[in-house]
Amino acid sequence: MNHAPAPPAAPPATLERWLTGPRFGALPAREPGHPVPALSFEFFPPKTEALEAQLWHCIRRLEPLAPRFVSVTYGAGGSTQERTHTTVSRIVTETVLTPAAHLTCVAATRAEVNAIAHRYWEAGIRHIVALRGDVPGGGRYEPHPQGYAYAADLVAGLRQVADFEISVAAYPEVHPAALSAEADLDNLKRKLDAGATRAITNFFFETATYLRFLDRCLAAGINVPIVPGIMPVSNFPQLAKFAAMSGASVPSWMGHLFEGTDDDLEIRRMVAAIMAAEQVRLLQANGIDEFHFYTLNRPDLTYAIAHILGVRPRPTPA
Ligand SMILES: Cc1cc2nc3c(=O)[nH]c(=O)nc-3n(C[C@H](O)[C@H](O)[C@H](O)COP(=O)(O)OP(=O)(O)OC[C@H]3O[C@@H](n4cnc5c(N)ncnc54)[C@H](O)[C@@H]3O)c2cc1C
Repeated sequence: MNHAPAPPAAPPATLERWLTGPRFGALPAREPGHPVPALSFEFFPPKTEALEAQLWHCIRRLEPLAPRFVSVTYGAGGSTQERTHTTVSRIVTETVLTPAAHLTCVAATRAEVNAIAHRYWEAGIRHIVALRGDVPGGGRYEPHPQGYAYAADLVAGLRQVADFEISVAAYPEVHPAALSAEADLDNLKRKLDAGATRAITNFFFETATYLRFLDRCLAAGINVPIVPGIMPVSNFPQLAKFAAMSGASVPSWMGHLFEGTDDDLEIRRMVAAIMAAEQVRLLQANGIDEFHFYTLNRPDLTYAIAHILGVRPRPTPA
């Protein structure tokens, strides 16, 4: 006959235990009058009318939070070129937001990429998130023979096109194709030396990993903001796939946090909000005052976390 293992003996219920037990550091509250952090929000361009309505609901909901900028991604291999352009152009003309357009090197000549950048400039877009991009459907990256080989080359090319503000990607856990952590850091430095003025990180869940990366950046002479990319987790199984592709690790405690919530959307969203809020407050406790949110075109988690950070809506002009 099988016997279930006996549960571990409960520790003695004494006040002494509280006084000598483990401590979980309290996160600081924001004092009234203390500046609120600067936020930016990332969206992806919609494929269908229904997704377009969802995106615009998201933009309108987050607009009063007055982010520093909002960025719109560029699909693998330029697959969303027109949709990215339409979305950022609409943001310029129909909102008070400052858009940034993502642009990649994959499967395009330099002339094609420059032409897209010119079009952005003419449409009033002044900020580009310059990326290498990935091969559509996965597979080994090969630069286009007449293209920009890597993001650093793209940054240098964009500087010749117009006076864009340029952000680039950074990887606290090292880009999966990098030859080494040092080579990846050298690459980040090249992108900044070529003219980028900010890096936005891939998402991560261990604050210590990001803080160690910041130390390495400082030691390498990097002094621009390395803005943490925050991914509020709305769908844990999907997150695990994203993470595997981008080289981000998903700590086992997260599996435990979301365990049993697959069919309980409401509880999952509460857990996700608390988890992301703890992450940003812990980063704040370490002095970080800028955050980039991967919204996945869903506003509520981002809105709730921004609220916890002290960000309140401002009236938007009619
Ligand atoms: C904030 C953010 C936003 C993103 N937005 C998009 C998006 O909109 N669309 C999209 O398709 N993807 C996007 N991505 C994903 C990104 O395109 C991929 O992670 C891609 O694999 C690397 O892009 P990168 O700009 O970091 O590349 P790079 O900085 O060019 O680096 C890519 C790899 O090549 C290595 N490397 C660089 N130079 C050399 C060299 N000369 N020789 C050998 N190796 C070299 C680097 O170490 C690294 O491993 C985004 C990522 C982040 C973090």
